[in-house]
Amino acid sequence: MKKKSFEYEIENYLFADESKIAGKGLFTSKSIKKGDVAFVMKGPKFVFHPKNREESMATPNIVGLDKDLYIEPISPYVFINHHCEPNLAVGDDGVSYIALRDIKAGEELTFDYSISEYSDWDMPCSCSSKKCRKIIRSIDQLPIEYFSKYFPYIPKYFQKIFFRNYIK
Ligand SMILES: [Zn+2]
Repeated sequence: MKKKSFEYEIENYLFADESKIAGKGLFTSKSIKKGDVAFVMKGPKFVFHPKNREESMATPNIVGLDKDLYIEPISPYVFINHHCEPNLAVGDDGVSYIALRDIKAGEELTFDYSISEYSDWDMPCSCSSKKCRKIIRSIDQLPIEYFSKYFPYIPKYFQKIFFRNYIK
């Protein structure tokens, strides 16, 4: 088997461009079918345990994979925006992004940040969706109708946290 190099292989159809949601966003130049893996997020993974709200809020670009395990996405993945009606959700491994519907070439790719976050964190949202929650919070506070739309494409650890809080 070929040894993996330290260079990340970035999907060549992904690009960053001006977003209607916020700042720059992540886009695809090819269409992606519902249920397909749109891309695998790349970047260094590291163990981190935010001790308080200040620490959670100070690291906006990292994405949760598992308990205390995070990825710091490299470009262009780092530009992926949150949306309250996203076209992607996340597979079990925390890094495979799955299309929730057919996606056209040129569309911005988005996911719901709540499915990869469990900490004292929030973020204002103005994604213009009719379902916009305005304030985005950790997985334990995600309303069930959003959770059901993404399920099973939510990393296992965050599913567990959701169920623990929902059943309580
Ligand atoms: Zn929103």
